[in-house]
Amino acid sequence: MTVLTLDTPLTKVVGDRTAKAMADELELQTVRDLVRHYPSRYARRGEMTKLTDLQVGDRVTVLGQVRKVDTRPMKNRRGSITEITVGDGDSSMRLVFFNHKHARLAVGAWGLFAGTVSSWHGQLQFNHPDCQLLDESTDAQEWATAMLPIYPASKSVSSWVLQKSLKLVLDSPAAADQLMAEDPVPAPVRARHGLMSLATAIWLKHHPETPEDVERADHRLKWDEALVLQVTLAARRRAAALEPGIARPRRAGGLADSVDALLPFELTDGQREVGDALEAEIGREQPMHRLLQGEVGSGKTVVALRAMAQVVDAGGQAALLAPTEVLAAQHARGIAGLLGPLGRSGELDGDPDGTRVTLLTGSLRTAARRAALAEVADGRAGIVVGTHALLSEGVEFADLGLVVVDEQHRFGVEQRDRLRAKGQRPPHVLVMTATPIPRTVAMTVYGDLETLTLRQLPAGRGGVSSSVVPVREKPAWLDRAWQRVREEVAEGRQAYVVCPRIGDDEKADERPEDADGAPEGGADGGSERRPPLAVLDVAEQLRGGPLAGLRVEVLHGRLTPEEKDARMRAFAQREVDVLVATTVIEVGVDVPNATVMVVMDADRFGVSQLHQLRGRVARGRHPGLCLLVSEAPVSSSTGVRLAQVAATTDGFELARLDLETRREGDVLGAAQSGRRSGVKLLSLLHDEELIAAARSEAADLLESDLGLAEHPELAAAVAALNAGDRADWLERA
Ligand code: ADP
Ligand code: MG
Repeated sequence: MTVLTLDTPLTKVVGDRTAKAMADELELQTVRDLVRHYPSRYARRGEMTKLTDLQVGDRVTVLGQVRKVDTRPMKNRRGSITEITVGDGDSSMRLVFFNHKHARLAVGAWGLFAGTVSSWHGQLQFNHPDCQLLDESTDAQEWATAMLPIYPASKSVSSWVLQKSLKLVLDSPAAADQLMAEDPVPAPVRARHGLMSLATAIWLKHHPETPEDVERADHRLKWDEALVLQVTLAARRRAAALEPGIARPRRAGGLADSVDALLPFELTDGQREVGDALEAEIGREQPMHRLLQGEVGSGKTVVALRAMAQVVDAGGQAALLAPTEVLAAQHARGIAGLLGPLGRSGELDGDPDGTRVTLLTGSLRTAARRAALAEVADGRAGIVVGTHALLSEGVEFADLGLVVVDEQHRFGVEQRDRLRAKGQRPPHVLVMTATPIPRTVAMTVYGDLETLTLRQLPAGRGGVSSSVVPVREKPAWLDRAWQRVREEVAEGRQAYVVCPRIGDDEKADERPEDADGAPEGGADGGSERRPPLAVLDVAEQLRGGPLAGLRVEVLHGRLTPEEKDARMRAFAQREVDVLVATTVIEVGVDVPNATVMVVMDADRFGVSQLHQLRGRVARGRHPGLCLLVSEAPVSSSTGVRLAQVAATTDGFELARLDLETRREGDVLGAAQSGRRSGVKLLSLLHDEELIAAARSEAADLLESDLGLAEHPELAAAVAALNAGDRADWLERA
């Protein structure tokens, strides 16, 4: 028999089919992945998942006792139907089997039942759940008090298959010791913070006897995650500090002065202060790394434009990176519009003292793209606006001096780095976000950024009020919502209706323009849940019904960029009353005359998405209204979350809410740096102290042991996190 190591592939441990399913469905490839596949919770007697918390489509595992078994022939078909009621304490639920042999499921038996929640005549049930009966003879005593680990499972890999597989690699604490003799957290760090060994922690995590065991194991395992992350960030900071950038001090009489003179409004005090801070930092050789956070509508774009103009005056180029084509086009149009001839240098009517504003997106046709690339490469384009197409190979800047990333939450650390690498010397970087960043997140995801905040909104804003429209409970409210839309339109205002899906052709509903914010809950087997409402269907229904007679247009990611642009323009010019759209309008779109937004299936959007969406209305002096339409029961967790979103526009509160409802991995990983963030337990919400401690340990470790030569296990963990092009920070450090 081969000796097991953490790198042993699971194909050597479990059967081929199981191994393949584990790889395909749960991304578990090696023994390391398996031992790090932690239970999501521990079932105990008396803790059956509260049924009121369950939603149709949720995939869950519950522990319960069989209370009633009822088999009868089916009415209209051959075969039988068996209904089994399982319960624990006061809660119970129904399991339904068709033609099932279930001799073992006798009244009194205890078991784990896993399935996707569906609904039948208003009552929640599992159809054909997977069952694992607890073996009375061996486990009877044990499981009455024990904590049964429940693993995140998939369609064909159940929690107990995972449990059995784990037994094969970890059958005793001694086996754990042997498997995990090397510990990524150095011994002195463990000693200082009273941490158990990795082997002990992993063993306890899978076999706890008390909740305290889990807590202690979690604490230690979180340290792994925090330390690896912080070492990575510390290495990045060191690498960045070693490379000087270029000072781009403000020059009088240039584009920056012209921008200030051309602005159609007075800057707010906040814009002025932030502007001064940026001006000073861009004027220094040390590359600026700044996060500018400011509420939706606080006027970040102008702040960025002023900084960009300063860089252009100093002979450099500035790039503005936007998350969607719609937004990039809007920025380019807005900037070009403001600069007028100053933005058309080199053209007949252009001002030779000006510069060029160049739009570069993925959808430019070949000739236009070639022209844009040439302007960027030879430096004629002082201001380059684009989507992530700016990051692609073949985009060369003559002298990139400033990178502005708008609406940061859509861009990962890597993407930012890639753009930064396009300067001969590191450019100054300004990242702008409307979603406030809690301090822990700033320390981790944004470990290398310092924050500036725009607190004030420009004067004279009407503000926005929000309400939830619970269509199941209050169907009449939806009629009222459409009536409100008609009223606003009658007043000369405009409205957005947002749907989660485009429609028509389901498969093609990839959502290229919004990679993050997948709403939680959906799990996999949501087959019983109806598909989300679609733009094309809703627009059709509105035209033929509640909004008949209004000018209704649709906007979504399947249109060509020209079509999107044309429709956005038509809306901006009030040729359209109601725009039915996907989240392509989520970020940054600026039509001050739009005052109502109706979000259909609001529960399918994440908290920060809803906040962003809501930011599209009330951008002018008229008060705005945002209606969150949902079928979720008012008292369900989803209903409560929507009510919370409706109740506040305080960005900080919403950011907390957002963190609570998203998995940490989504915050750190997915959107930020790909799946491999390695963060499973660490909570940015609750582990502030631990993260801060790990941060200081990481700095000390790198101080005394550059390259981590003395800590191969930690180095390996860091390298795994930074697989690929990111690993070179460590070498540089
Ligand atoms: P965000 O911070 O959400 O990106 P924008 O930069 O898009 O906000 O600004 C929102 C709107 O406010 C724009 O129409 C912009 O022209 C306007 N605006 C920005 N600054 C001011 C100001 N100081 N006074 C009045 N309007 C302003
Ligand atoms: Mg913006």
